[in-house]
Amino acid sequence: MSSIIQLLPDHVANQIAAGEVVQRPASVVKELLENAVDAKATDIKLIIKDAGKALIQVIDNGVGMSVTDARLCFERHATSKIRQAEDLFSIHTKGFRGEALASIAAIAHVEMKTKQDQEELGNHIIIEGSKFVSQEPAVLPKGTSFAVKNLFYNIPARRNFLKSDTVEFRHVLDEFQRVALAHPNIYFTMYHNGSEMFNLPNSNLRQRIVTIFSGKTNEKLVPIQEHTDILSIQGFVGKPEFAKKNRAEQFFFVNDRYIRSNYLHHAVMNAYEGLLPNGAQPSYFIYLNVPPHTIDINIHPTKTEIKFDDEQALYAILRSAIKHSLGQFNVVPILDFDRDPNLDTPYDYQNKSAEYPTVQVDRTFNPFSDEKPTHSNSSGSTSSSFKKVDTTQNWESLYVGLKQDTFEIDNFSIENDEVTASFFDEKEEEQVAKHTYQIQKKYIVSPIKSGMVIINQNRAHQRVLYEQLLTNMTVQQASSQQLLFPLQVSFSVNELKIISELQPALETIGFVFSWESEELNILGIPSNTTESEVKLVLEQLVSDLQDGIPDSSFSQNDTIAKSMAKSLAVKTGMYLTEKEQENLVNNLFACKEPNVSPFQKPTFITMRVEDIDKRFTL
Ligand code: ADP
Ligand code: MG
Repeated sequence: MSSIIQLLPDHVANQIAAGEVVQRPASVVKELLENAVDAKATDIKLIIKDAGKALIQVIDNGVGMSVTDARLCFERHATSKIRQAEDLFSIHTKGFRGEALASIAAIAHVEMKTKQDQEELGNHIIIEGSKFVSQEPAVLPKGTSFAVKNLFYNIPARRNFLKSDTVEFRHVLDEFQRVALAHPNIYFTMYHNGSEMFNLPNSNLRQRIVTIFSGKTNEKLVPIQEHTDILSIQGFVGKPEFAKKNRAEQFFFVNDRYIRSNYLHHAVMNAYEGLLPNGAQPSYFIYLNVPPHTIDINIHPTKTEIKFDDEQALYAILRSAIKHSLGQFNVVPILDFDRDPNLDTPYDYQNKSAEYPTVQVDRTFNPFSDEKPTHSNSSGSTSSSFKKVDTTQNWESLYVGLKQDTFEIDNFSIENDEVTASFFDEKEEEQVAKHTYQIQKKYIVSPIKSGMVIINQNRAHQRVLYEQLLTNMTVQQASSQQLLFPLQVSFSVNELKIISELQPALETIGFVFSWESEELNILGIPSNTTESEVKLVLEQLVSDLQDGIPDSSFSQNDTIAKSMAKSLAVKTGMYLTEKEQENLVNNLFACKEPNVSPFQKPTFITMRVEDIDKRFTL
């Protein structure tokens, strides 16, 4: 039988290897930045076009390469960083596999210029799909420049697999930030489509963090420090009151390499125990230094996971270091419940009596009275405007003897809310009016003609807000409350980008923004939002959109409305006055789709008298 095994040609092997090393533009960014760091550069520029799909260029002032190395570096397993197996246990560089450049050159058009300090001339190499196109001497400054164009040009399947520019750009930013945070002593700049995104002069760690994540970050940070035989820890953790909704500001570095570790994350969370509300995420920038032989960075091809020799000890040391800092820097007492609330309130509002913050509905409207009220939208929002029309909706079929009526959203005044009233047995109206009950600060129970209805207050309010917000976005008539003092909410560059992309949609619901260089000022907020909620609302929104802003404006609006409804809805555990309960019930049943929350969960259930009867006959 003839033999069938063959060695793969290099360019095929390289393309296969590229699948592991290069998933997306961000992978190239990471490899090139790391090579520049390994080359001892003190000034590194990243230039990208179209989120890296068209161009990724990294220019460094590092050691450069000789003529021979300039050619050799594109070979597979060509590295200057290790020579023998033992070296694997004392790695001080980012790279060591010698795979990155071979892989990148297999799937893109690459142009490299490099010059060593002592040489007169440098080298200019063009390589496309693993084939050398040209190599020439050239007059160049010291260092190396890599330009990677048309990524995956020869693998259309991979190219099509790339996500939208917004998503790919975010991945690039993540990689850039990780490298920049790991090396505050290097000057980094980044440009996207010709505009400067970051300019990070060399500095100390704290300044680096603050320049990347906006000036406000400074006051949030608490230093941590610990030195033991097996490791040293330094860095910063965020004060609990600045905790975020998402994990965007959580970083571990081990020996200056960004890593992910659920185990260490758990240690951090453990240190914050009791200090954070449910689901809140503290910021942290934690730098661990361990002897290289005690870690194995070899377990993941893109090297963001590593294995430690003595994980349990690390866990304990890290946890206690953070606990210590949070205590030492008096972070715990900052959760000050006695703080004078007036300090947080604009003058105009100080003398106002407290109002229930989230359920801002039409308080004059009593669905239980016979009168047909005329509503001039006393809710302070243009949103709860519904107009009755005669079409059929299915939720009402739940109720025996009710008219098949429903509402259509209209941006003017409410004309008629008869249906809501007729929802309840007419003879019982007087009585029923006094009979919505809140149970466990979670459900609202109310008698109806056929039995009773049990409403989940949180989901019901989500539904109401969701439809209001969508209406506002569609009719673009939301009212906005102007803030006395512009509100500055600090966001990272990533987050600001998301907000700026959503700005038109957010303005339709009442936000008014102004940008001062990189700072976002909020001048107006939607009328159903309070100033203290704004930060939360925007953070939630950004967090819900981390994986990309939907392309169509329809689904963009939908995402915003869902996210805001989630943030603003009354929560389980909130007490509602009788009036508020009634309003919520009314508004719910004035919705187009009252029976499910925006997240398709049931908002209420009904129990018919027959069902109740049955229970008693058991
Ligand atoms: P690795 O980084 O794992 O060694 P790479 O394929 O990324 O493998 O790079 C191969 C070699 O090319 C490196 O070991 C280094 O000697 C050289 N090299 C790559 N980038 C640069 C750079 N920016 N400046 C100087 N030398 C570089
Ligand atoms: Mg490398």
